[in-house]
Amino acid sequence: MSKLLESKKALITGGSRGIGRDMVLSFAKQGADVAFTYRSNKEMAEAVAKEAEQHGIKVMAIQSDASNYEAAEALIKEVAEGLGRIDILVNNAGITKDNLMLRMTEDMWDAVINVNLKSVFNLTKHVMRTMLKQRSGSIINVGSVVGVFGNAGQANYAASKAGIIGFSKSIAKEVGSRGIRCNVLAPGFIATDMTDELDEDTIKAYEASIPLKALGQPQQVSDAAVFLGSDMSTYITGQVISVCGGMNI
Ligand code: NAP
Repeated sequence: MSKLLESKKALITGGSRGIGRDMVLSFAKQGADVAFTYRSNKEMAEAVAKEAEQHGIKVMAIQSDASNYEAAEALIKEVAEGLGRIDILVNNAGITKDNLMLRMTEDMWDAVINVNLKSVFNLTKHVMRTMLKQRSGSIINVGSVVGVFGNAGQANYAASKAGIIGFSKSIAKEVGSRGIRCNVLAPGFIATDMTDELDEDTIKAYEASIPLKALGQPQQVSDAAVFLGSDMSTYITGQVISVCGGMNI
């Protein structure tokens, strides 16, 4: 059976844990050469790289802060040289620093906007030259259902994820004529370190309110990312694709 991402080259930010880790492994399984970044956990990143290499593809694990403009420029250069081209960019790196508005500090606001939203600008800005030259590319920005509906205690996070939607729709309009697509993947509640902090009662309440009656798994988000990166989605751009068990209806 042919693989969905055969001969594609992908860059995924935040690939050492959670959803990003699963995307690295799923992309590798589907035949793509994959470069991925992490912020601090080298050991974890090396373990992911080793696992991905077992699919017989090329892997690059690079420590790079997605919120840093110059680092993003250097990263794109390194990956374009290392893999030869960049067909798929997944802006996945993200953090939360939750608190109610009365207690939210300027630092909490800045950190979340920089890592979640400015990073998307940084990477998209620097990959553009490569993709324009190729006259093709798929940019997948990881948003959240919270970016559409809001969430008490997450004004910074929701604003960053809502910003990603406006950004992605604009990019889709700007470069669609050059064969470059840009979509948002909006997960609901997915079982990762990010949601691990929630207590059991909160998780049970969420599960009860989700039409599919369960938290999502990283693999279910990766499946949608594989689709958006593949030639199965060549007429899809500027869209927000929710992977949330129906929690947004
Ligand atoms: P996670 O388990 O906390 O993993 C975050 C990943 O991002 C790690 O690999 C981390 O690297 C990396 N990272 C953090 N800051 C970075 C930076 N400045 N530069 C580069 N990499 C950085 O998170 P997750 O749950 O998989 O979430 C992934 C994405 O999905 C995020 O954008 C998140 O907002 C979104 N999302 C998640 C959920 C959910 O329920 N989990 C729901 C909706 C949306 P280190 O390990 O080195 O720190």
